[in-house]
Amino acid sequence: MTDRRAELSRNLASVRRRIDDAAAQAGRTPDEVTLIVVTKTYPASDVALLAQLGVTDVGENRHPEAARKREDAGEGAAGLRWHFVGGLQTNKAGAVTRYADVVHSVDRPRLVDALAKGAVQAGREVEVLVQVNLEGRDDDPVGRAGADPGEVLALAERIDSSDGLLLGGVMAVAPLGADPDPAFARLAEISASVAASYPGATTISAGMSGDLEAAVRHGATHVRIGRSVLGERPALG
Ligand SMILES: *Cc1c(COP(=O)(O)O)cnc(C)c1O
Repeated sequence: MTDRRAELSRNLASVRRRIDDAAAQAGRTPDEVTLIVVTKTYPASDVALLAQLGVTDVGENRHPEAARKREDAGEGAAGLRWHFVGGLQTNKAGAVTRYADVVHSVDRPRLVDALAKGAVQAGREVEVLVQVNLEGRDDDPVGRAGADPGEVLALAERIDSSDGLLLGGVMAVAPLGADPDPAFARLAEISASVAASYPGATTISAGMSGDLEAAVRHGATHVRIGRSVLGERPALG
């Protein structure tokens, strides 16, 4: 084993143990929780190693870094499911539908329409999640991502009625520096209201390296883990 492979293997084991423990404490089984390893800023060679180590799902947050990495990972990453988890400009949506299997960051009608158009042109069906803003209304409206909770059902309906898109469920990032539990509890309520209208849309994408336990406690079906597997990223990322 190379040093990097051994390091990733150790880190993966420790993250999987955290998921197992959190699931057990919540009375859930670990196979209800899919681990997405967020590989942003790390090289395609890491993606290939992760695939060898049994990772099935990887996440990226920027185009074109994600596209390039998927190309570069080549055969070594065949069969991986690619999740796009970052903020997405409408004019890049079409390009992203050519390689992403799931887009987690859908928070406005124009983005739904752009993704649908791209997916149809690419001849693909792309799963999308509605990103929910759990910060509350008064936070920096420029920097924030996610639809307000009151907008989620309308977006879900637009996605559900779009060719090329499959409504998967909801996604959120816990508010920075605040207790994640109430935020993820709120996300669980929003998920329940979406699933009541769209029974297939049961995905809850929540939980990162710092708060995966809270997310699993509140029903996360997908956790998005970067640093705890790959190591701390350099300042930006
Ligand atoms: C980077 C990122 C993650 C992973 O965060 P870590 O703290 O490295 O685990 C999860 N979700 C999104 C949207 C991200 O951008």
